[in-house]
Amino acid sequence: MEYFKLHLYMPQNSTSILAPSFLPATVVFEMTYRCNHSCLFCSCPWENENDSFKKQKELSVEEWKNVISVLCKMGIMNFAFSGGEPLMKEGIIEIIEYAASCKSEHIETVNNTLVSEFKTPKLFLLSNGLLMNAEIIALCKKHDIHLSMSLPGFDTFEQHTLRKNREQVLHWFTEAKKAGLSTTVNVTVTRKNLHELYETISMALLAGADSLLMNRFLPGGRGIKYAKELMLEKKDVVEMLDIAEEVLQTANRKGSVGTELPKCIIPEDRNYKQLSIGTRCSAAIEFFVVGPSGYIRTCNHSPIEMNHYTEIEKIKDHPYWKKFIIERVQTNNV
Ligand code: SF4
Repeated sequence: MEYFKLHLYMPQNSTSILAPSFLPATVVFEMTYRCNHSCLFCSCPWENENDSFKKQKELSVEEWKNVISVLCKMGIMNFAFSGGEPLMKEGIIEIIEYAASCKSEHIETVNNTLVSEFKTPKLFLLSNGLLMNAEIIALCKKHDIHLSMSLPGFDTFEQHTLRKNREQVLHWFTEAKKAGLSTTVNVTVTRKNLHELYETISMALLAGADSLLMNRFLPGGRGIKYAKELMLEKKDVVEMLDIAEEVLQTANRKGSVGTELPKCIIPEDRNYKQLSIGTRCSAAIEFFVVGPSGYIRTCNHSPIEMNHYTEIEKIKDHPYWKKFIIERVQTNNV
């Protein structure tokens, strides 16, 4: 699954949200290496055939529950179930039910005062929609789970994913809307689908998606092999932003760009009102990743595995983790 972004879902009465530990407040769980799509742009590091990233034994249902317990004790308040395709993971419903039964310590700054409370973490499910069904929609409804599904193009959907479930994705957005779920359409933009970006976003919003998470293609994982044909040029990125803003303004919806953009790419004369654009990497700052075998990474694009979750306290001393933290501190001080 593609990049995850939190800021669309922050409670309106809080000015900051902190986990009561050194960890970011959001974790992305890559539940399994398996996927029933074969997206050309897939950035999962294990899909890079030339890389040394090794798949290891996946965590069992009980081990995933243990990960959740450990992280709740460390105050993690946002759990995003991703993959691979998370709905392919055996026991996924049991694992999500377990997460929904846990409590973690939320610390928020409300009206300039730190407020601590034990609350059920907020859950997110990121799927390609192929295995979506009424049971999963009901599960999302029961636990107020935010549902994201991907639509990387409409006419070019099959060309990008090698599957034919675009109508299914739209159908499940409509069903999710009927059930009163909050949803996001994830659109990865490539040179092959830029020409139909307006239509792609429009169709998802008309079907019932509430918001947009847009990622420009970045070479990683399987995508490295297709970098030349998928990579956007600078002018394409500007076109992508303009199109998304136009659709969002027309539909009066909000959206965000998942992967950060260098400031120099964003034209100074543009004033994007509906689309929020990050210019700083948020890996290890706003979120981190637990991979299918329990190893921690700073970001889902990164192939660098650090410690196993069973020794999560050691992460703060890991040189790779520290690099991200130090770089952010230095950026903030510039
Ligand atoms: S990008 Fe496509 S192939 Fe990769 S995990 Fe997501 S749905 Fe599966």
